[in-house]
Amino acid sequence: MAKRWDYTNATAGHRVGTMICTACRQPIAEGDFRYRQNDDGFLPQHRACSLDDIEWKRIDQRRQEHELFAQRRQNALQAYIEEFGEPWPELIEECVANIPKDCAKGEA
Ligand SMILES: [Zn+2]
Repeated sequence: MAKRWDYTNATAGHRVGTMICTACRQPIAEGDFRYRQNDDGFLPQHRACSLDDIEWKRIDQRRQEHELFAQRRQNALQAYIEEFGEPWPELIEECVANIPKDCAKGEA
């Protein structure tokens, strides 16, 4: 059975273990990386060192969908403001409260 990897981003402040890539032996200071854990600890790898992993493609797709969603929401709000003027603050709060939670977090 293939080992399961977890995916995260060092630029966003995530760290595991020594943060030394097990593929190229260089430190992982920024950007996407994946990691798994064995008895020796965490085994992280740069995204660039694991490009054959198809999960990166899925992560990019999810990020793109989040961006498109945010862009459509922004466009709709802009169109509303041009048509009707600034909405009531309560209306904005209600709209924000109704954004799906996984989109609001912006996580891949
Ligand atoms: Zn590497």
